[in-house]
Amino acid sequence: MLIYTGGTIGMQHDAFGALRPFNFAKILEHVPELKRLKCKLHHHSFGKLIDSSNITPEHWTELATIIEKFYNNFDGFVILHGTDTMAYSASALSFMMEHLNKPIIFTGSQLPMGAIRTDARRNLITSIELAAGEIVIPEVCIYFNNQLFRGNRTEKFTSSKFDAYQSLNYPALAEAGVDIQYNHRFIAKASRKKLKVHHQLERHIGLLRIFPGITHEWLNYFLCLPQLKAIVLETYGSGNAPTEKWFIEALDKAIKNGLVIINVSQCSGGRVEQGKYETSFQLKKIGVVSGIDLTTESALTKLMVLFGRKSTLKEIKRQFQAPICGELSLEE
Ligand code: ASP
Repeated sequence: MLIYTGGTIGMQHDAFGALRPFNFAKILEHVPELKRLKCKLHHHSFGKLIDSSNITPEHWTELATIIEKFYNNFDGFVILHGTDTMAYSASALSFMMEHLNKPIIFTGSQLPMGAIRTDARRNLITSIELAAGEIVIPEVCIYFNNQLFRGNRTEKFTSSKFDAYQSLNYPALAEAGVDIQYNHRFIAKASRKKLKVHHQLERHIGLLRIFPGITHEWLNYFLCLPQLKAIVLETYGSGNAPTEKWFIEALDKAIKNGLVIINVSQCSGGRVEQGKYETSFQLKKIGVVSGIDLTTESALTKLMVLFGRKSTLKEIKRQFQAPICGELSLEE
């Protein structure tokens, strides 16, 4: 089943020269090869097609609900999505769809389907081949420029090259060359349990990136936002942050007031190791939770889903540090 949400893949220039999503029929016109694939394709379009900059948690619930409804009717699902927030959407869906035994593959393109040098056709065709293939990849993935990644491990790192995504902390699940090479060792096992979908997402989750020169006012403004449940704190290197008294005290006070603070690194690769440096020792001491090697996209969406399940704070903190669907590597 092909689900079209919007994104560059199906965009055309409007009267003002800006790219906007167009209807699904336009995409299919450009890929007559789809008729030759050895699988039956069914497609579904979002009522209002979007540039993925407009994606919201409600869209993720819509996607999860569509897949849940048709889960038993199809061998796999391909979601056409804008590249800008695809890593967030793939991460969110990975936490929302528990006990998967079928592939859900996100793809899109850097150039629209109608462009002469487009990457859209091959991304679309190979994603469908992967989703319908005999080797079942029971995960939420991103397929882009010949590589299939675990969705919750990816980030968009370039807006100008065809290989827009990287997954520095986890190897590619498959690579498409003349043949498709599967990295079997790294592909999750299919679940034998029944699919369970978590529809509720908590929106009062924030992201705070520290920077040299960050002020007390700036930090306090975020930490004191009403209804805020948790923040992802993007720190330096292996999870380091200023040791100044006001900084640590502000975080400490927020944690004591019930805020969950997750430490993820501003680096795309490597892991948070609280206590390795003096500059992260205090964070550990006051109860900042290590995000280990999670991407920011994964940390944010994992919090949204865990808080959406309405567990206790203690339970959320525990679940946060255990992998749900291969999103983090346990501490060595
Ligand atoms: N702005 C577009 C989007 O994310 C970019 C793309 O699809 O590549 O929808």
